[in-house]
Amino acid sequence: MLKLYNTLGRELQDFKPITPGKVGFYGCGLTVYNYAHIGNLRAYVTHDILTRTLRRMGYDVTHVMNITDVGHLSDDADSGDDKMVRSAEERGKSVLEIAEFYTQAFYSDMEKLNIAKPAIICKATEHVPQMIELIKRIEANGFTYSAGGNLYFDISKFPHYGDLAMLHMDELKAGARIAKDANKRNPADFVLWFTKSKFENQALVWDSPWGRGYPGWHIECSAMSMKYLGEHFDIHAGGVDHIPIHHTNEIAQSEAATGRHPWVNYWLHNEFLIMEKGKMSKSAGDFITLKDLIDRGFDPMDYRYFLLGGHYRSQLQFSWAAMEGARNARKSLTEKIAAMAQKVPDFLEDRKPPLVFESTENYLEAFNRAMEEDLSTPRALAELWGLLRENSSVPGDTTVSESKITGILTAVLDMDRVLGLNLEKILKKSEKQEDKALSAEVEALVLERTEAKKAKNYAKADEIRNKLNKMGIILTDSPAGTTWKLNG
Ligand code: AMP
Ligand code: ZN
Repeated sequence: MLKLYNTLGRELQDFKPITPGKVGFYGCGLTVYNYAHIGNLRAYVTHDILTRTLRRMGYDVTHVMNITDVGHLSDDADSGDDKMVRSAEERGKSVLEIAEFYTQAFYSDMEKLNIAKPAIICKATEHVPQMIELIKRIEANGFTYSAGGNLYFDISKFPHYGDLAMLHMDELKAGARIAKDANKRNPADFVLWFTKSKFENQALVWDSPWGRGYPGWHIECSAMSMKYLGEHFDIHAGGVDHIPIHHTNEIAQSEAATGRHPWVNYWLHNEFLIMEKGKMSKSAGDFITLKDLIDRGFDPMDYRYFLLGGHYRSQLQFSWAAMEGARNARKSLTEKIAAMAQKVPDFLEDRKPPLVFESTENYLEAFNRAMEEDLSTPRALAELWGLLRENSSVPGDTTVSESKITGILTAVLDMDRVLGLNLEKILKKSEKQEDKALSAEVEALVLERTEAKKAKNYAKADEIRNKLNKMGIILTDSPAGTTWKLNG
């Protein structure tokens, strides 16, 4: 039974899907005004681990992720500049060009990190009609007010407002957040639709019942998640910074529109990747991208391995020394796997069910338990290492030992369906290397045989042919020379 830590309620809960066997999951996507930093990528690897775990457990998962290409201001609570507009101005490009460029860069990072592409990726700019429809429902239910040309959500009308962040309405009303916008009745009120705001140079604007303008950031996630997953779905995720504002506001809007509570059953939040100076953030300039890691000679999988070493709900301290550690550990892991693969050359083609060894099964079970207890990747990795150490107790008898190695490798690949370290690729590579080594050996023997024939040493030539036949190589002699192929 999968247990997930639900921010809503702050406890570990048994996961029960709304529809048996199916999971609707929405993960907040990137604001595409710049490259993703490796802190952002921690969020997407976390989402990937979640979907992979659910799929391996047999669930049919619909994973939806948005791309924020409009409306995210430099402060999550409606102040500052529009991040997209500012970036476009700085780079002398249009907002759409900027969005397209960084969206593609983000996809490429996801691919390099072996993050399975979400089934649905939706762009905010392509869903403004859905946002307008949702705002209309919120307005019709009496949760809004207009001021200074903007349409606001009135949090005092929504009693559950503080639930996710465990904030008290009284504190919120007393102005725990400083309102930078004098139009707000309450500092925590937020904009659903901007029209005549301070952002007069807004590049992308749409007509709406409240005037020509653009949507607030939070409404996009409510509108798009409901479009693709329905008005009640299973899991919603993002980084911990989204708890007090973005996700709190998403819940308020969605439940105000539909009247349904709860809107989402499980809220998952990953902790930050931190630098020595604190949280990695784009604005603080303390900003490392995946490309920076690659430029320093790391493989993207080293970073994935580094992330797996920390639980998603714990802060993870980035350092170059820690990256070196991850690289060395992964190298040793892949070398061990490649060495085992050499002993069972036909492993990938010829996956006979291996004999069941209790010790191997135990590691697999412990691995499953670790993942089912709130996605504990550090424990899961430890089980993978334990499993690999089983190789040292391989029995002397060749048939049994091959079967045991096959058992270990089968379990390794099964674990990797969740870990996503691309270990099958390592096996394929090791087979290819083996093929190369074989070709070199055969070529050398064929040459030796040709030389022997030239020297009329037919006994030696026959001896070489027999040797090659035993290796499964068939020779064909022709006036043009000798060619060879593998039997079968
Ligand atoms: P944004 O593009 O700002 O909406 O951020 C994309 C995702 O990255 C969100 O889920 C954030 O919560 C998450 N995030 C931002 N900074 C960090 C960090 N330093 N470590 C982990 N996750 C982060
Ligand atoms: Zn969101």
